[in-house]
Amino acid sequence: MILTIKGAAKTVTGSKHLITTQQGKKILLDCGLYQNSAKDNDELNSHLGFDAAEIDAVILSHAHIDHSGNLPLLVKQGFRGKIYATPATRDLCAIMLLDSAHIHENDTVYLNKRRLKQGKPLIKPLYTAKDASNCMKHFYAVPYQNEFIINDEVSFVFTDAGHILGSAVINLAIKDENKLIHLTFTGDIGRPTDLIIKAPEKFRQADYIICESTYGNRLHDDAALAAEKLLQIVLETCVEKKGKLLIPAFSLGRTQEVVYTLDKLKTQGLLPPVKVFVDSPLSMNATDIMRKYTDSFNDDIQEYMKIDDDPFGFKNLIYIQDAEESKALNELKEPCIIIAASGMMEAGRIKHHLHNNIGKEDCTLLVVGFVPPNSLGHRLLRGDKQVRIFGEVHDVKMQIKSLNSYSAHADYTEMIDFLSCQDKSKVQQLFLVHGNEDVMCDFKIKLMEVGFNNIAIPELNDFYELH
Ligand SMILES: [Zn+2]
Repeated sequence: MILTIKGAAKTVTGSKHLITTQQGKKILLDCGLYQNSAKDNDELNSHLGFDAAEIDAVILSHAHIDHSGNLPLLVKQGFRGKIYATPATRDLCAIMLLDSAHIHENDTVYLNKRRLKQGKPLIKPLYTAKDASNCMKHFYAVPYQNEFIINDEVSFVFTDAGHILGSAVINLAIKDENKLIHLTFTGDIGRPTDLIIKAPEKFRQADYIICESTYGNRLHDDAALAAEKLLQIVLETCVEKKGKLLIPAFSLGRTQEVVYTLDKLKTQGLLPPVKVFVDSPLSMNATDIMRKYTDSFNDDIQEYMKIDDDPFGFKNLIYIQDAEESKALNELKEPCIIIAASGMMEAGRIKHHLHNNIGKEDCTLLVVGFVPPNSLGHRLLRGDKQVRIFGEVHDVKMQIKSLNSYSAHADYTEMIDFLSCQDKSKVQQLFLVHGNEDVMCDFKIKLMEVGFNNIAIPELNDFYELH
């Protein structure tokens, strides 16, 4: 069998790996979008790098767009097989892929206005809402810990990756000549101390491992410190200065973690009586799906739910769907907390809130997630005194703060712990994907120190014959 790295090679997005079996069957692991700021993103996203009609099946690790976001294009270009995912991943993809399609459609309308003025030919979106809904017809839900047989050569079992709701490690068993090869793809690996979902599970012995490496050279702050630090910033901004606290957050995962932290502070009687707005329709829908899968929650939150059955809802918490209601927040004169997407501040309603509040000394921006180099979030965090938002130059007068306790990705010690269920002498090769090259090089050294050998850092389209 052959493994070909078709994405996330020396970069953190665009997850896509192709298995070709001895009898020529083609199985794709993930089909993600490139989401970094590189110039060749559009090119990489619109060309899958293989014939979609030749793919027999897709196995999806989780719903994040950098892992699932190009599935609608795959179907549009002729894929007719099944997309295997956990039930929660399927439900999350139904809202996330539709949202992604709307973003592509809106971006295209905006770009075409400019192209029309410049006399350039008009472009089409990568895919539409209709393509996203067609794609959902191919999903087939497979629960964790069920060995699923795809065909007479390939079977797999999902184990919990502990990264986001529904996230899975894909443990494949592939017949090759007279042997069975065990190949494991980690997808993204979560933290054992995640606030809401269960810790990553042990997985069966693999001969080959495709491993993520996002934080392969970093250690995170203790997740337990989040509540204390968050409360301090709420008190400073909303009580002392009577200003607004803006928290950019990913709609799935980070928003629910921040809301749950505030919910617990409220229950403890520590949260001041300010209004908290979750200003994102996608967050609202994602929260509803999380409420449906409470069996994926860890013991701490299950215990908490015995005294508060809704950890994502409390008095003064308001979910906003309507765009007009979102705009009305600008006129609100009282102190409040606004949680809005996108987490990276490159798009979404948070950009409007920044536009309106960045010049106000009594307001605070609290960054709780990853911001890529050169993004607006990155410029604000490094202390730029002026930034451009919607083409307008603003003096930065609001306070800029960050909180590093939240992360959906394991740091390097947590990833090494996660891999410690393996007999290292039996792992023939480990492929590092989904990380920046310098981080991968550091992570490779750390993995070799704990006994892993033969670690590859593949380039895009590198292929390996596995025996
Ligand atoms: Zn992810």
